[in-house]
Amino acid sequence: MNKKEYTEKYRRQVAELFSSVCYVCDKKYGKRFHFHHVRYRDNELVYSDFNSNDNYQLYVLPIIQNRPLDFELLCNKHHYLVEILKQFKPERLDKLFCITRRSISWMPKLTGTWKELFAHLTSMITFSFS
Ligand SMILES: [Zn+2]
Repeated sequence: MNKKEYTEKYRRQVAELFSSVCYVCDKKYGKRFHFHHVRYRDNELVYSDFNSNDNYQLYVLPIIQNRPLDFELLCNKHHYLVEILKQFKPERLDKLFCITRRSISWMPKLTGTWKELFAHLTSMITFSFS
């Protein structure tokens, strides 16, 4: 077993600590998944400190095994989103989520008559229980 095969096997084993699914969407563990480092401790190295992905994996996987609560397993799409979103200040992040929720098509807009709004909400409730 070469180094790359070893780290892949090791990653699969560590992913089981997270039920082998993305924290956000429950996608089953596979290629291009990330152990997102939620909380760093003092003097911990980061990905860019390493000259190869395998060397980083061999450094970080035992840390994840010891402190799984400081990490989350994410699919590539959700890891990418988290990396972007974490660049925003909390108050901007709140506004971004607020406007995103308001913009989602299944959310009733506060326009139209109360009867239309009631019909919309009723259909959502029926849908969610069926
Ligand atoms: Zn996901």
